Amino acid sequence: MLIVKKFGGTSVADAERIDAVADRCIEDYRKGHQIVVVLSAMGKTTDALLTRAQAINPNAPKREVDMLLATGEQTSVALMAMAMAAKGVPAISLNAFQVAMHTTSRYGDARFKRIDTERITNELDSGRIVIVTGFQGINRRDDVTTLGRGGSDTTAVALAAALRADACEIYTDVEGVYTADPRVVPGARKLKEITYDEMLELATLGAKVLHNRSVGLAKKYRVTLVVRSSMNRAEGTVVKEVCDVEGMLVSGVAVDKNAARIAVLGVKNEPGVAFRIFDELAKHGINVDVILQSIGRDETKDISFTVDQEQAKEAVKVLKENQQRLTIAEVKEEKNVAKLSIVGAGMQTNAGVAAKMFEALFDVGVNIRMIATSEIRITVLIDLEDVDIATRAVHDKFFHE
Ligand code: ASP
Ligand code: MG
Repeated sequence: MLIVKKFGGTSVADAERIDAVADRCIEDYRKGHQIVVVLSAMGKTTDALLTRAQAINPNAPKREVDMLLATGEQTSVALMAMAMAAKGVPAISLNAFQVAMHTTSRYGDARFKRIDTERITNELDSGRIVIVTGFQGINRRDDVTTLGRGGSDTTAVALAAALRADACEIYTDVEGVYTADPRVVPGARKLKEITYDEMLELATLGAKVLHNRSVGLAKKYRVTLVVRSSMNRAEGTVVKEVCDVEGMLVSGVAVDKNAARIAVLGVKNEPGVAFRIFDELAKHGINVDVILQSIGRDETKDISFTVDQEQAKEAVKVLKENQQRLTIAEVKEEKNVAKLSIVGAGMQTNAGVAAKMFEALFDVGVNIRMIATSEIRITVLIDLEDVDIATRAVHDKFFHE
């Protein structure tokens, strides 16, 4: 079997952990498997490098930031190869340039275009464990790019797809994907399996187990993922196309505290208004999520929506600058809100899921401010201070035993 194993920053944080990871990889190597290891930078290295860049130049050229950040992964792969060599196992580390992992040009947010597999395949065929830098690529000018924070997961999936690997294992500091954040919900359970679509929704909603682009890529190339702990042998969670849901309506409850609510009040009640407002926001690259429009009264109506907190200021600015043209009487912004979502492939074929969620919130007296749904997700906007109690209530409603 050809197995791609990816280890995150915590899993390679120091010499001891690197040693443990080396042992774990060697174990499978000795069983006769071909092993490709993808690593993140050690511990908080990437943050530390960013701090150093900031100290020298807060507006550092993006190309140079990527050049700097890529050293984090280069350090961990070299050390891993040394650890394996010390154990008498032939191993070789390769960076994105050596493999030839081609990406788009955009620094800090590059996407894979093509990965040459020849070098890796040759190394594997000569009996080596191949250790590849996560998170980085090269662009058309042969300059170093990075994929965005958390991007090593995406490297692992892209390599698994390119090499047609038999397995892609993502080792992390949690035991898998949970039905809710175990720190908030004591009864949260580890899932045996989850579909790509559900995982995509959860990853996008901020459940930080997997880089969301890695899930999209896995779905596209049908790479089955296993998310599991690097600290123990517990069985992880399998991410794949179809799951045996066993009547499970919901597979997870996710919280996004990074939301802001913006209300535009007293806009003209006529066709084209919503189009002009959201078109203006889109032109400024502002991503709008949950939208609510009130029933028009007389000549005017109100529209509210959510954006990520980082974009709230810009959104308000754009709206105020165009206030007259967009016929807006007033723009209001509110930060103390959070999005609570339930995700489940099972809701496509089951009525009453929304009602059940709303009942749970009613039971604990939590007010719903906005609602949005997709095929496999229901999101409500609630007050930030209600988040924990609401999460527990909703989780218990769907997962009580
Ligand atoms: N080292 C990078 C980061 O911290 C990539 C990764 O860990 O996946 O974001
Ligand atoms: Mg990560």
